[in-house]
Amino acid sequence: MSKPPRAEIITIGTELLLGETVDTNTARLAQALCGIGLDLFYTSTVGDNAKRIAQAVRQSMDRSQAVITTGGLGPTIDDATREGIALALDIPTEFHADLWEEIQELFALYGRTPTENNRRQAFLPMGAKPIRNPVGTAPAFIVETASSCVIALPGVPGELIVILEESVLPYLRDRLDLRHVILTRTVRTAGMGESWVDDRIQDLERMSNPTIGLAAHAGRVDIRIAAKAEDEEKAESMIAPIVTTLRQRLGDVVYGTDEDSLEGVALGILSQRDLRLVVVESGTAGALGEALAPHAGPFAGSLTLQHDVPEEKIEEELNAAMERLHASVGLGLKLSEQGRQRLLVCRLVAPERSERLERFFGGPPDNAPRWAVSLALNLIRKRLSA
Ligand code: ATP
Ligand code: MG
Repeated sequence: MSKPPRAEIITIGTELLLGETVDTNTARLAQALCGIGLDLFYTSTVGDNAKRIAQAVRQSMDRSQAVITTGGLGPTIDDATREGIALALDIPTEFHADLWEEIQELFALYGRTPTENNRRQAFLPMGAKPIRNPVGTAPAFIVETASSCVIALPGVPGELIVILEESVLPYLRDRLDLRHVILTRTVRTAGMGESWVDDRIQDLERMSNPTIGLAAHAGRVDIRIAAKAEDEEKAESMIAPIVTTLRQRLGDVVYGTDEDSLEGVALGILSQRDLRLVVVESGTAGALGEALAPHAGPFAGSLTLQHDVPEEKIEEELNAAMERLHASVGLGLKLSEQGRQRLLVCRLVAPERSERLERFFGGPPDNAPRWAVSLALNLIRKRLSA
């Protein structure tokens, strides 16, 4: 069996390299390629420079059957994608009279006259097929070689998406004879670090289909399973046993899958038991209250105290708030600096148990509040589930 085809993405624009524009096109394209079951092994970014664009395109076309570029199709000199692709393939550009007509008509529609610059957009690498761009002036195009193809799309995300859905995905399915889907599922865990999780599932992480990978967040670790199969049903049947295995190995560290959030799960437990929660926090900039705010019902309210209040003060306020708001569960959080680390003291007051927990956090200080929130929510989940 021949190897499955693969795609590459090259985003073009000096503004991307300067960090002025955040590259969202790669993520959008990557998701779309995943959806049609086309493997993506490399992505790259180059500035508005024809020679470097040519180099990147040549390298990508050498190892991939489809190369998608975004950006650099505008009318000005620094929009160098057309020239870069022509250079990569060692072909001249040619004038498309019909494209020039279309550009002029589009300008007329807005009561404007195109400048001589705009004429540049009607020059495409020789043999290129223009792709209709119903939402902008920059003509997108495809150039095919025997072993690969390059698809040049505009940089503007809104334009890119329309052309992608309307023309590019159907084209790729057809040209590369794609009959696979890639289905993904995320198993969500909290309470243990990435290395703890990794340690228990290393053998699974070495599999090639489905693939299994970890993504660490503050206080949480997601496990992503991606299966490639002829259809969704088949992919689903490959994923399901992995989810079962993960649950067996990781136990109640797993709190949910896909759309489940720790907030939702923790409050779901309170809701089920008809318990109401109040929160008093210090040093977290109100992060826990903010995370819970969208979940009215079991969440009765929160109070944010200033930094470095004594623990007794938090306890006092917590008791008062529980009484005032008729809540039977209270969570008190105090996050403070301890040298280069952060110390979290978490107090849970609940009908059947109360406890005090201390944890240190050595990660990036900006992540500490979010980590504290995960820890507190996980405490509710573990201690109060029926
Ligand atoms: P235009 O017809 O607007 O000239 P273009 O193909 O020349 O389109 P660029 O000039 O490279 O596109 O980019 C236009 C705008 O699109 C940029 O200013 C930026 O806001 C956005 N953009 C470009 N590339 C990306 C990217 N990779 N991710 C997100 N936004 C992008
Ligand atoms: Mg640009």
